[in-house]
This record gives sequence, C-alpha cells and structure tokens, in this order.
Amino acid sequence: MIFDLEMIESFYKRLDSTILDLRKKLNHPLTLSEKILYSHIYQQSQAKSYKRGIDYVDFRPDRVAMQDATAQMAILQFMMAGKETTAVPTSVHCDHLILAQSGAVADLKSAGITNKEVYEFLSSVCNKYDIGFWKPGAGIIHQIVLENYAFPGGMMIGTDSHTPNAGGLGMVAIGVGGADAVDVLAGMGWELKFPKLIGIRLTGKLSGWTSSKDIILKISGLLTVKGGTGSIIEYFGEGASSLSCTGKATICNMGAETGATCSVFSFDNSMKDYLVATGRQEVADLAEKNSSHLKADDEVYADPSKYFDQFIEINLSELEPYINGPFTPDLATPISMMKEAAKKNQWPIDVEAGLIGSCTNSSYEDISRAASVVKNAISQKLVAKSEFKVTPGSEQIRSITERDGFLKLFRKIGGEVFANACGPCIGQWARKDADNKKVNTIIHSFNRNFAKRNDGNPNTYAFVASPEIVTAIVLAGKLTFNPLTDAIMNSDGKPVMLAEPEGMDLPPEGFGNIDSGYQKPVHGKADDKIIIDPGSDRLQLLTPFAAWDGKDFLNLPLLIRAKGKCTTDHISMAGVWLKYRGHLQNISENYMIGAVNSFNDQTNKILNQLTGSYDTVPSVARAYRDSVSGSAVVGEENFGEGSSREHAAMEPRFLGVKVVLVKSFARIHETNLKKQGVLTLTFVNKDDYNKIREGDRIDITGLTDFAAGSKLTVTLTHTDKSKEKFQANHSYNESQIEWFKAGSALNIIRKSNSKNG
Ligand code: SF4
Repeated sequence: MIFDLEMIESFYKRLDSTILDLRKKLNHPLTLSEKILYSHIYQQSQAKSYKRGIDYVDFRPDRVAMQDATAQMAILQFMMAGKETTAVPTSVHCDHLILAQSGAVADLKSAGITNKEVYEFLSSVCNKYDIGFWKPGAGIIHQIVLENYAFPGGMMIGTDSHTPNAGGLGMVAIGVGGADAVDVLAGMGWELKFPKLIGIRLTGKLSGWTSSKDIILKISGLLTVKGGTGSIIEYFGEGASSLSCTGKATICNMGAETGATCSVFSFDNSMKDYLVATGRQEVADLAEKNSSHLKADDEVYADPSKYFDQFIEINLSELEPYINGPFTPDLATPISMMKEAAKKNQWPIDVEAGLIGSCTNSSYEDISRAASVVKNAISQKLVAKSEFKVTPGSEQIRSITERDGFLKLFRKIGGEVFANACGPCIGQWARKDADNKKVNTIIHSFNRNFAKRNDGNPNTYAFVASPEIVTAIVLAGKLTFNPLTDAIMNSDGKPVMLAEPEGMDLPPEGFGNIDSGYQKPVHGKADDKIIIDPGSDRLQLLTPFAAWDGKDFLNLPLLIRAKGKCTTDHISMAGVWLKYRGHLQNISENYMIGAVNSFNDQTNKILNQLTGSYDTVPSVARAYRDSVSGSAVVGEENFGEGSSREHAAMEPRFLGVKVVLVKSFARIHETNLKKQGVLTLTFVNKDDYNKIREGDRIDITGLTDFAAGSKLTVTLTHTDKSKEKFQANHSYNESQIEWFKAGSALNIIRKSNSKNG
C-alpha cells in the first residue's frame, strides 16, 4: 500500500508550474533546497525572494510525524483546535518508551504494561483524527518514514531531532518542537527562518571498510556541533549518486549533529530503486518524470561557491573510516590515528559493548555488511571480545535480516537483538550490572554520544562509528583496533585479518509481506473515543485557556526576577519530568525550578508575598493564581533559549503567569508564550530590570489600546508604597494580538471551526 498517494500526486502535478513561477520571481539559478523550500511557501502566491538566515517565512509542509514521547502534548493541544482531522497526513510512532533490557519479546511485553495508558491514548486519538499509528515494536520513527512516507521534493516536519533522515529520499525534513507540529496539524503556517545553504560535493567512490557513516563522521568533525546551525546541507556530485538511498539517509540523519536544519540529496537511481523495492513504484515514476526539479540547476553544480553560503568538497576515494567521540559527536578521529589519540587522551581502550542499528544505521546494507564481518570472523575461528547488541530500525528490517540469516550470525557470536525501538540510543537501556561510577568504553553506530546518553552512566566513554567498524571492534575488544592493518588472535592462537565487509543495498529477495505493526485509522466511527484514565498521572485532557477579560493587568505580584541565563531547561526541566509531558498539571510542578532567584541567588526558593515565607516557584505561582489574579515573571537576556519546548510556555499560562517581562527573548520561546496567551514584553530601558524589587506589585496598562508597534506602561508598587513607572516594548503583530485577546492561538482556530460548523 502506498500512503497518501493522492497528496503526493497533487504535489507533483503542481510542481512544474510552481517552479516556473518561482523562476520568474527569483530570476537566478536554484539549488535543490530552494526549489523545495519555495514550493512549500504557505501562501504560494505571495512567495518572493527571501534573505537566507534573516527572513522568517511561513511554510506549508506536506506531512507531520511524531514519536510517542513528544506526540502526547502536541496531540492534546491539537484536540483543542476543534478540528475533525489533521490538516496534513500525520503519523505517530511508538518507539521512544521501550526499555531495552531482556531482548525484543520480553521488552515489548513490559513496555506494553508500563506505557499502556500512553499507547491506548495515542491509538485512540489516532483513530479519531485519522492519524496513522505505528504500534510499539513496529519500528523507529525515521526508519518507518523512510520506508513508507518520504518522497523526493517533499517537505515534512517531525517532533524529533533526527527527522532529517528523510533527506535520504530527497525530502526537506525538519525536526521541530510540539508547538510547531500543532501549527501544521491545525492548518496554520509554520514559521522558519529561511535557512542558509551549505553545499557539499562528494567526488570519488567509497571502498573497503569505509561507508556512508564515515562521510558524516568526517563532516561532523569539519563543521562541529554548531557549524550547520540555521543551514540546510545539500549534497551532490558523482560520489553522492554512488551512495545507496539508505546510506544517504544515514548522512542526513546525523547531519543533526552539526546543528543543521536538515540535509538533502537530489533524486537519483538509488532513490528510485529504494522506492520501487519498498512498494512505491508510482512515487518513483512521478519523481522520475519531475527529476529536473528534484536537483539543483546545472549552473549551481558548475559554480557551487556562488550559490551556497559555504561550499565543501570531499573525495570519497580518499576517505578512511572514522571513530568519533567520546562525549561529543564532532570529535572525529580517522581510524589510523586512533591508537595515538587514545593514548594521548587516556581513553579507556577495552571496549565493553558494541551496539549497531537504531534509526541511523540499520538498513539492509548496514546489517548485511556487519553480518559479512561476523561470517568471516566465524570462519576464521574468532569470537566476540565485547558484548554485542543489535537494534533493528523497523519490523520490516528485522524480519528480512532474520529471514536472510544475518541476525542468526550475530547471535552466534553472542549478539542480543533488542526490540525495534530507540532503546540504548536514548538511555532506554537497562545495562546489566550497571554501575554509574564505572569508567568504561562502548562503541555504537547511533548518532549521539553525549555523557549519559546511552546508559545513564556519566563515566561511559561512548564512541560512534559505522556498523561494520563497530562489529570489527567487538571482535577485537579494543578501541584502537584497525581492521585495515591489524590482526586478531583466533581461538587457535593464530593472528588473522578480517576480510573487507561486503553487503547489498537492497534485499535480493525483496522486503516481503509482513505485519508491519501499522494501525490504519478508523476515522469517523460513531464510537471514536479518546481513552484517558481520569486517575492517570501521565495524561490529562487540556482545558482551553480563558480569553483576556479586556482589562489592564493590575496589582500582579512579582513571581520571580530570574538572574542570568534562563533556558527552556531552567524553565521546564527535562530528566525525570519527561514522564509527565502529557500531563500539564503535573509537569507544571517543574516550572522555573532551575531559574536563579536574583534576590537570593538560589533556585526554586522565592518569596510568597501572601504569607511572607519562602517557597518553591510552582507553589507560589499556584497560590497567586488561586488567591489573586495571577503573577508576573521578570528575566534577563535571551530568555527561553534552548530547545523549543512547548511546556515552557504552557506551564506559566497554566500557573496563572500573565506577563513575562525580560531584557530580551529567544525568539521561539517568545512566540510560544504568545501562542499560549501569555503577554510578552521587553524593557525599553534594560536598566529598569534593576528597579524591580522582591515584594513588588506590578501593573501593566495600555492593554485596552494594544496595537502593533504600541508601547505598554509598567508601574511598580514597592512594599514601602512608593511607585516607579517605565515603558515596555512588545513585538506583537495584529494577528498575534488576536491570540492574546482570545486567550491562545488555538482558541482562534477553535472559534473559526465552530463558526464554520
Ligand atoms: S533511535 Fe536514537 S536518534 Fe533515532 S529516533 Fe530513536 S532516540 Fe532518536
């Protein structure tokens, strides 16, 4: 079955005229990224030339994918929009909440018990709103998207950082926060700063032990974890065409480690073959017909430096395998230099575990190449020296790699196959004999290796390499092993060299016909019910926030004057709180608990003006919400920087914070607060921050004339009854002012739906 074929057909039908129209407007040769971005402008007729890295533009993505952890709050919010279905095709994937512990079968069973209420909620909500639901065990979001949904030239967003994986099939696929997903689900424009463009030409051809993974490991080292920020990385050249489609996906997936908005390859035969092999012949034909629009213009390839903001060239024939890490994915060491680097940095070289798979590296090509290494090792009487774990990216991949004997080979050297889920890639790994103090080394083919990422142990040195290099190192047991030059002692005490890996891009016997774990929505059934246990502490239905009462804010007690850096992590901490991300009331108990109170330099200890005592931020906020009319928060520069987390904006609204007044905002957080109906203001004179005292009451006046470009007045009443007055700026445009008046952006959509209905 081909998902959403109608939508894909309609996209390709308009593509020719859209690009023709753009050429007239822009009047310069186009990169592939520009073709995709410009053909997804929210109001296509209003498309004009945008300044890269400067202009904010509203886009209309073709689809949304959400993983189970981030989907909960996004869908709870979407439910408040009062829509019957999502505005674009959408899917939900149960992959993040499965703990890898005792093997696939047992782990899936226990996830079904632990996460029962979350799965039931997501399954029921997907049915109601016509969303594709991928059950636990079906696979990891990005692998499922590549196998089923991605199409060349399309644009999608996903509530997960590695959504760019779909760039392997020529899609601009961007990882976002839940608030952005809600915009697209509800049919609003999705705003993004028009990205800068990094062009990477790949020349030559991979051979021997090198693989696609080594390309992105090298690029991570070149660009570092920040070098891609705000940019799309576009790949081209004969080296790019020589890579498999899934190899391209690996590169795009891990492009996230450079901070890139996403990465993309142009359409070629490898994509066509992958589409056909995964049962999407019609999509392959449509892409083929439109292939001139699914690559950059020839002028761009002829003179890339002129059309990209940054241009890099890599010769694949000269590339050697890389090992990146520890603790950061951009510390790139060519394998030939590893002995020296490990010695110099005193990295522990005995490898306790090697892990392959995940959404990044579990293609048929990856698994078949790793299996060829194992097959060769067994024939030479080698045994594994380290633990070996395999996480297939999807049931599709698991079943064919089982059918073709690869998983059996892994088991022969003691390999353990985990469920088709994120597991050890996201800390969902209950490692046997785990000891959080033990210094040890592991190596995996995933993408991230920050401290504690895999097993929660800050003393685990995690390195990243290709699946075939991880497998070779598992056989040798040493981080410094280089299969290109080193021998391993076999069980007869004879030194033997491993043969170069061999594999196949696509399964010769096809992908087969399996139960993929997909639940087709049964939209429109009379008994569509959203299942939430009223006693649940993980899920809670949202109630729409109240509309503005039309009056100025008077006499608001100051909740906290935050000092210094206040990121979304300080505002809404992650860690143990993540289990409450579907329960606004419970997660609100972490509101601002990481922020420093400027009056005592302590966290989560603020004055309660009603009692005169000191208490936690959430409890004082609740007291103000319930006893007086709410409260005000004050902060410094770049307030709310960090990952876009909708909870950081929903929690203050839920706890009655009416206004956040700061020296400056991180833009996304400011917009998120506006969307939730919290008034966002900045000091005209930043020194006015110092006028605010601990027991202050705050008036915000001028709201009755609230208009774009107007100023509002802040009046402080100090505890000695003296008053001070100053002006504050706002950055609301007319439609954002309507969000404020309605109580939230979603209230506007709900209102317009009920009018239309
Ligand atoms: S496997 Fe890892 S990188 Fe991929 S979606 Fe899961 S947690 Fe993210």
